[in-house]
Amino acid sequence: MNDCLFCKMVRGEIQPKKAYENERVLAFHDINPQAPTHVLVIPKEHIATINDLRAEHATLVGELYLVAQEVARSEGLGESGYRTVINCGRDAGQAVFHIHLHVLGGRPMNWPPG
Ligand code: 5GP
Ligand code: ZN
Repeated sequence: MNDCLFCKMVRGEIQPKKAYENERVLAFHDINPQAPTHVLVIPKEHIATINDLRAEHATLVGELYLVAQEVARSEGLGESGYRTVINCGRDAGQAVFHIHLHVLGGRPMNWPPG
């Protein structure tokens, strides 16, 4: 996807502050953090929304959570806890249409979310 912001990060055309990377997954710090730690975990493959996931993506989606766990641990959130969120579509406020798992922590979170 040529004009996708997160695909540009995957290709190295934009350089976010990386938190983790392997062949399939990239994690980087959010530019507008909503908590002391706010990391986005993305698949390197362009998938626009949760609605675009297919059965063959199941392992990849699982890996997003394993990377979230690893990032949370390395950010010191393993014990205190953290929130993971994937926004899907307009009502959820999805702004970047390349699926991303938010990892938020370092402060108490409210429920229900706004
Ligand atoms: P969404 O609302 O789509 O779930 O979340 C998109 C997230 O991407 C937002 O938290 C926003 O701050 C973050 N974001 C948007 N543009 C950039 C950017 O250029 N760099 C980084 N690191 N994060 C970005
Ligand atoms: Zn993309």
